[in-house]
Amino acid sequence: MALKKQFNQIKYIKFPWLKEIHRDAHSQPFEHLGIAWSNYFQKLKNGTIAKIQKQRMKEGKRYDPDLGKPNFKRKGKCKDSFYLANDKFKINDKIVKMPKIGNVKMIETLRFEGKILSATVSKEANKWYIAIQIEVTEEIYFKQRMQNSTTGIDLGITAAVTLSSGKKILSPKPLKKALRRLKIRQRKLTHKIKFAKIIAGLKVNQPFPKGAYLKKSNNFNKQSAKLNKTHKRIKNIRLDWTHKLTSKLCRENQAIVMEDLNVSGMLKNHRLARAINDIGFGRIRQQLFYKASRYGVAVFMADRWYPSSKKCSNCGHILECLPLSARIWQCPLCGFVHDRDVNAAINLKQLVSVTTLPMANLSGDGNTIVEIPSEMVGKVTPVRYERSARDGSGQEQNFACNHLYVHFESSPTVNTMPAKSLKPWT
Ligand SMILES: [Zn+2]
Repeated sequence: MALKKQFNQIKYIKFPWLKEIHRDAHSQPFEHLGIAWSNYFQKLKNGTIAKIQKQRMKEGKRYDPDLGKPNFKRKGKCKDSFYLANDKFKINDKIVKMPKIGNVKMIETLRFEGKILSATVSKEANKWYIAIQIEVTEEIYFKQRMQNSTTGIDLGITAAVTLSSGKKILSPKPLKKALRRLKIRQRKLTHKIKFAKIIAGLKVNQPFPKGAYLKKSNNFNKQSAKLNKTHKRIKNIRLDWTHKLTSKLCRENQAIVMEDLNVSGMLKNHRLARAINDIGFGRIRQQLFYKASRYGVAVFMADRWYPSSKKCSNCGHILECLPLSARIWQCPLCGFVHDRDVNAAINLKQLVSVTTLPMANLSGDGNTIVEIPSEMVGKVTPVRYERSARDGSGQEQNFACNHLYVHFESSPTVNTMPAKSLKPWT
């Protein structure tokens, strides 16, 4: 608050362009800064920053005194955005009225009904977006599932997602497709920086001096916009695919079993990093977690030491080694021929026996009631499953159960949405 006071005294003298924008746009950042600093001091107190610093030193990186501190933002050099409180703007169908800016037509009307809390206007790749925060009822927030299946999913590079049903889902790989265009646009931009350096009297091969500021030509700005557009397109294609995939998975399953992949470890392999990033393993996982809580789906994670690929899903025989190149293999014990990815997905599915699952009830009146045993509720808790007496199969497979833990964030929910309003996803 002291900093804000100081800023208010000099703002119109030092930054005259602030008169053109609404007061909220430059007062809210102080709130954000306050939160950012208290987060930083919290991390400093509980030793998180020291831990990361230690890890960096281990990897041979230099000591960073500014690690974890809030970054400086600058108009035009960061993601441009500003905040609007709910009393400062009005929405009328497709028109949003903002202070100082006036009426702006939106591309679509508001999707949800409820109390409007705030809005954030941001710019990405030369286009403006408004994100409106709305308080919705539980009926809108929680969604109804169409089916109560259980699916094991195996993430991979050749087929991005393999389901235990044998279905393989390919990723659109937008980066791979746009890479040539991206390289050309990046090269043209580098050219423009090179000549801006020459004009400024700098040598081309010398590192850029600290604090120096190149005057951006119009052609630089045009080329930069083109490059940003390509990046944005790649991101949009990828996000569209992961959202549709994760929604479909959550809509059709009461339980999803996946491997707890070490994504950041895999990204260190430079030959695989681009392909992995192009699919977005981390994003799929993140979306599954938050959508699972909305659909009441239990997400099970198998740990990294579970031999999902090496185990025969038909007889349970575990191979000693299976090279990465082997896409199809035959079990030496029972002779079953396996597709590597499908076998892994089936093994993951078998990890969760149906008897240990929460009882889900998809009743005709649209009410889905999910009962979750109390030991399963909570964020990533290690769970050990004992086979119940009613299983009666006589097969003791407790070795597999030790590999499992559950990720389930929401408490049991009751969804009162009418079933008719939901269409199955195709
Ligand atoms: Zn076998």
